[in-house]
Amino acid sequence: MILVTGGAGYIGSHLVMALLEQGKDVIVFDSLELGHMETIETLKKYGNLKFIKGNLKNLDDIRGVFMSNKNIESVVHFAAYSQVGESVKNPQKYYYNNVYGTLNLLNAMLEFGVKKIVFSSTAATYGEPVYTPIDEKHPQRPINPYGNSKLMVEKIMDDYDKAYGLKSVRLRYFNVAGADSEARIGEWHEPETHLIPNVLKATADKTFKMFGTDYDTVDGTCVRDYINVEDLAKAHIKALEYLNNGGETNYFNLGTKNGNSVKEVFAVCEKVKGQKIPLEICPRREGDPATLVADNSKAKNLLNWTPINSIEYSIQTAYQWEKALSKE
Ligand code: UDP
Repeated sequence: MILVTGGAGYIGSHLVMALLEQGKDVIVFDSLELGHMETIETLKKYGNLKFIKGNLKNLDDIRGVFMSNKNIESVVHFAAYSQVGESVKNPQKYYYNNVYGTLNLLNAMLEFGVKKIVFSSTAATYGEPVYTPIDEKHPQRPINPYGNSKLMVEKIMDDYDKAYGLKSVRLRYFNVAGADSEARIGEWHEPETHLIPNVLKATADKTFKMFGTDYDTVDGTCVRDYINVEDLAKAHIKALEYLNNGGETNYFNLGTKNGNSVKEVFAVCEKVKGQKIPLEICPRREGDPATLVADNSKAKNLLNWTPINSIEYSIQTAYQWEKALSKE
């Protein structure tokens, strides 16, 4: 049995779908503050899924999960807040949820003897890039509370391995994109802040705002490494296999090694939609580095993971999902 925290959210739900399709038994623990019950209902159609509503900030909620499910072998931990801007305005919310909540999870794992965890970390732990593409040796100097909260958890996990033998794999995501190939699940944030869904949702009344066209990049807009969400889910399955095979605590970048500018993404969205998308050029958004691209060789070599889906495919599936979502 695999416990997935935050399994009703965007990335977590794609992992749950992939696990269920492999015939694995899954427990999802989610507060449903940001995740959706509709996602759980959809996932339940595809295999043996048990859903438990609870909040990691309540130690008893998560202890109860382990107490009544003695067959949990490993944990994949997605549950977290992830908006950079919000974390700057309200760091307390981020440290309390992302750090304290994770401590409760780890404590419950230790109490019940579960010693394998895959953790959603982020490229935001690197901060302002000193070189590109970014490999795992790049200094980790986050520039906002969100990145700090994730880096703190990474450090806690190192110490918990040394002291208690808790093995972790930390996956540092770059920009996650796309949706399920059959549009059953996808990205569903309210409000939405991410580039691709915002471009696809734009209308004459709600113009897409392009933040900054004066960066030192190929066309003046920010360059990011867009990793397909189904490829990303597969990396988690590889990480679980790695731990099950006795792998040591480790950390990996998950990206494609290719960068795309905001203007390039916008052009692909127009092509996929087959229409002009209303565009407004706006000033830079605070805290956006010009370029963030992953060196993914370590995950390729040690996890035997290779991303296969293109950015066009991610945008096509995101568009199919947007259409499905607007009919809900
Ligand atoms: N972006 C934009 N308009 C939007 C949302 C994002 O121009 O409505 C830009 C943003 O400034 C950044 C890139 O798109 O350069 C990716 O932003 P996103 O929020 O998707 O991911 P992040 O890189 O912040 O994790």
